[in-house]
Amino acid sequence: MLLTVLGFQSPYPGPAGATPGYLIQTAYTNLLLDCGSGVLAQLTRHLPVYDLDALILSHYHHDHVADVGVLQYGLMVHQLFGQRDQESPLPIYAPGKPAEKTAELVYRDATRFYPVDETTTLTIGDIRVSFLRTDHGDGEPCHAIRLESSGKTIVYGADSGPGTDWTPFASQADLFICEGTYLERNKPARPNGHLSVGQAAEWAERLRCGSLLITHLFHEYTEEEVRQEAKAYRSGTCYVAKIGLQIDLSL
Ligand SMILES: [Zn+2]
Ligand SMILES: [Zn+2]
Repeated sequence: MLLTVLGFQSPYPGPAGATPGYLIQTAYTNLLLDCGSGVLAQLTRHLPVYDLDALILSHYHHDHVADVGVLQYGLMVHQLFGQRDQESPLPIYAPGKPAEKTAELVYRDATRFYPVDETTTLTIGDIRVSFLRTDHGDGEPCHAIRLESSGKTIVYGADSGPGTDWTPFASQADLFICEGTYLERNKPARPNGHLSVGQAAEWAERLRCGSLLITHLFHEYTEEEVRQEAKAYRSGTCYVAKIGLQIDLSL
């Protein structure tokens, strides 16, 4: 699997930035994880929009879904242009509630909605997908997403508070994409559904992950200050998210 970071910032994009979106590619499959603000513009650098096979949404917060509407417009126009089959709406896999959000995932012939929860397993092309509910959101589900293909595993942690138990879901993942929303200097006194950079590093080390990608970062953070607080992770390669970063797990 080849991962490309299309967006990683939160809660809003910085200059020429984008909020979360990750492209996962194999020889057979093009899968988009989350579709935040600015993600479509970045996607077009790597892949025609009409070549996507599926979109998986972790949850419905704006920083993860802001570009879904323009993706639907794009697919509709590509169907009109004859570049995508009218009979092939893009499947969107996402939590089954709230209902007013799920209703927006069905658009003409462009997209169809398929609800998922912790019991769901999917096969999308040559990628096996499963889900874990995280400690995030005001009672609405947010799912971490586990992807397995050709003997490699990527776990995308989505948004998650310290109450998420990653064992065994993310244990020994070849790549753990974990949020590091806070630095020590701006960490709130009480946990509020997000992890700090330090907590991401501690979890990745405890889970013995092969590599760690720290993401969901405020756009003004520097790579150096994020790395400074990620020293607890020593088991493998630590990446700090930036737009266009690619990690090839087939190597
Ligand atoms: Zn969220
Ligand atoms: Zn978020």
